Amino acid sequence: MGFRLATVDGRAVLINGATWHDLAAASGGSFSGDPMEAIDRHAELHDIAASTDGRDADGVVDETTFGAPVPAPRNVFAIGLNYADHAGEADMDLPENPLVFTKWTSCIVGPTDDIELRSGAADYEAELVVVIGDGGRDIPRADAWNHIGGLMCGQDISDRRLQFAAKPPHFDLGKSRDTYGPTGPVLVSTDLIDDPADLDIVCRVNGETRQSSNTTHLIFDVPTLVEYISSAITLAPGDMIFTGTPEGVGAMQGMFLAPGDVVETEIAGLGVLRNTCV
Ligand code: ZN
Repeated sequence: MGFRLATVDGRAVLINGATWHDLAAASGGSFSGDPMEAIDRHAELHDIAASTDGRDADGVVDETTFGAPVPAPRNVFAIGLNYADHAGEADMDLPENPLVFTKWTSCIVGPTDDIELRSGAADYEAELVVVIGDGGRDIPRADAWNHIGGLMCGQDISDRRLQFAAKPPHFDLGKSRDTYGPTGPVLVSTDLIDDPADLDIVCRVNGETRQSSNTTHLIFDVPTLVEYISSAITLAPGDMIFTGTPEGVGAMQGMFLAPGDVVETEIAGLGVLRNTCV
């Protein structure tokens, strides 16, 4: 059985239908409740999730109370220009190798947290986020899915003015402002997903669809990204990869995010992020 991992008040919880179970309690004290420990021991979560059937729940699912499922990753990688249609709209050549940058971990927030705008040039980027379960170095493509603890939705909020304030552009800085990394609402183990390489991905702003694509259109697919990044850096449990965004970002249309805007990021089977700009 698979698991859906979330956090409430900083504690790891397992979702069962419309209810949640405190991981520390449901595991009989085997787990501390630290969500990073939960990722590290993700293989054990399957049996504990199964054991919550018939257990008295500790709470009812209310995503406004959820924090980031993986609140303190060691590294957060992100990929630029990983959908051909987005590279086209950005008028950039298709990359020959994955374009890897960093979202500094301090930008990571939860599924309904506010996005604190700091300029008039903030933009949305709906992305599939991969969370490493079993770390490693030099992970071959063929083994990559075995190293993944789960998938979730992510928003790579990008301050275009800051991103392109230097030449060459400093992606890291422009995409790492405080609150510019919404994630969640839950981390879903891949065995709960029919085909984790074929997921519809949508971004809506104030209910209007701005991005609509499918992860089959990734230029560098998830196994390739795991192989490429782990050839340079040892991956650790909890490390995240934001896998890139499809076409439809606001910058190309002169439509930036404004206070009051509600950004919804939805991936089939993984749920919806609902973040308000303030
Ligand atoms: Zn991005």
